[in-house]
Amino acid sequence: MFEIVRFVDIGCQLICKDKASFTFDENQYIVCNRKSFYFCLMYSELIQYSEPLFRPPSEARSLILQTAIGCSWNRCAFCEMYTSKKFRIRKEDDIFHEIDLMSTYASHIRKVFLADGNAIVLSFDKLMKIIEKLNNSFPNLKRISAYALPKDINAKTDYELKKLADAGLKLLYIGIETGDDELLKIINKGETYHTTTEALIKARKSGIKLSVMILNGLGGKQFSKQHAINSARVVNEVQPEYLSTLVLSFPLGIDHFKKRFSNTFIEISKIDLISEMGNFIGALELENTIFRSDHASNYLILKGVLNRDKDKLLSDITKVLSNPEQSDLRPEWMRGL
Ligand code: SF4
Repeated sequence: MFEIVRFVDIGCQLICKDKASFTFDENQYIVCNRKSFYFCLMYSELIQYSEPLFRPPSEARSLILQTAIGCSWNRCAFCEMYTSKKFRIRKEDDIFHEIDLMSTYASHIRKVFLADGNAIVLSFDKLMKIIEKLNNSFPNLKRISAYALPKDINAKTDYELKKLADAGLKLLYIGIETGDDELLKIINKGETYHTTTEALIKARKSGIKLSVMILNGLGGKQFSKQHAINSARVVNEVQPEYLSTLVLSFPLGIDHFKKRFSNTFIEISKIDLISEMGNFIGALELENTIFRSDHASNYLILKGVLNRDKDKLLSDITKVLSNPEQSDLRPEWMRGL
């Protein structure tokens, strides 16, 4: 039995709060006694995280290792994830010390997620040293992943990306947000359609899988149609392994967002968000992409493989649009924002 002092899992956000104990289950994963889901070693008292700490929902069982604090860009109009943090790359000694601390649990660690907002901004040499240390420390390690910005990928050579992939960097999570150049500029993403496709195709060619995110409602009423169509275009060009959509939210209030959006933003209704999803999915031409809109922010939960399940997803959307009152939309109180 171990004692941990913190956790609450809300979508992809981790908040340290509570006291709980946990045990290993038959699969050698840690099971927490306060919630019946598998839990990872990140909640061990061994690592003192700089919070807030974020990870994708699919990294719930991974060891989270902060290689940097914050996001090196930290300027997107809609994002407050790391605005409380001044960006810095952590010292190698500190990172290695945390890896050493986990040696007791070495055989249980199968996946490692490199935090915070864009660990791939680290130089090739630094990343390779960290990955080598992880491989040497955790004999059952199967996957290393991280959030990345297109500009971080474009700053690496094809050779470097291939070396990182071969060493164990298997998956990158990338918030494309939108494929629309006009909107990318307004939200201050620091990327364009071209820089995004260039980076993502480069990463895929090196053998790194991609999980990309599009932000439903990002352009409000004014940009809804072009946001949907150009987001589908960028995804079609990249053909990522995984695609998800989240719904734009306003953690510091809509007025705060509007100020950062040049004051022209007009929020779209719940039904218009779903209509935008219909335009987006309708324009997708994918070979084999796992699609999810099941993040806590989504009103309508959609899941499938695209394009295989495109007709089914579009029919689900049509049903909601034709009879919104009878639809099974996630109520506001369950959105966990
Ligand atoms: S690049 Fe990502 S983490 Fe950084 S500010 Fe933009 S959305 Fe937030």
